[in-house]
Amino acid sequence: MIEITSASIKKAINKARQTKPFVKVIEFRRYQVTNKITGASYEVKFSKLGNKKLAECNCKATVICYHIGASIGAHIVLAERLHTALA
Ligand SMILES: [Zn+2]
Repeated sequence: MIEITSASIKKAINKARQTKPFVKVIEFRRYQVTNKITGASYEVKFSKLGNKKLAECNCKATVICYHIGASIGAHIVLAERLHTALA
């Protein structure tokens, strides 16, 4: 798991905007990200440790990659929805 920082996630989101991969929700905090051109697909997981936000992707990158950048949008929407549902 890699800690998400505002700088690293910003970079990843920008890269994701250029690549525009397809994001599928597996379940809350688990997403499948597919590159529409190559068809390569990876799984991204999010978790929380105290107030640290962590993410993990099974691609070869060891940084916050664009797969994480692509799925965080869906993750935030889903987290907000769940939060609202639980409130
Ligand atoms: Zn990745």
